Amino acid sequence: MRIKRIFAVMLAMLMIFMSGAFSVFADNGEESEAEHNEGEVTFIFSNDTPEAVKNSIIAWHTGGDQGIATYNILCDLFGHKEEDYYYSTIIHKDRATQPRCLKNQYKAVHCSRCESTLSAQLLSATYIYCCS
Ligand SMILES: [Zn+2]
Ligand SMILES: [Zn+2]
Repeated sequence: MRIKRIFAVMLAMLMIFMSGAFSVFADNGEESEAEHNEGEVTFIFSNDTPEAVKNSIIAWHTGGDQGIATYNILCDLFGHKEEDYYYSTIIHKDRATQPRCLKNQYKAVHCSRCESTLSAQLLSATYIYCCS
């Protein structure tokens, strides 16, 4: 009988541990404490992404004009110097029911010479628990 009780305690602890793990997973939204407005977008870049690349990618999403200002003759002659960057966006309160926020993962191709985002490819889209 004693072994059974120990087993029950272990099972209870495991369940506590697991429910803890799940809440961490649910809170995974990097800015879960912050209150966001409907349709607001959070960009999540890795730490080694240069500031200029971040701005360029955000501009690409928001339809900011890239072409003329960043024109570079070398890119015209030899093609762009392409580099890949991975990042995510969270579109807050995208739908009415939980999970409400849409997390998209992208791969952007960016030219380090003319500092322009050439393309951004959607890799995955998942709804996450973020805003209430
Ligand atoms: Zn270029
Ligand atoms: Zn959210």
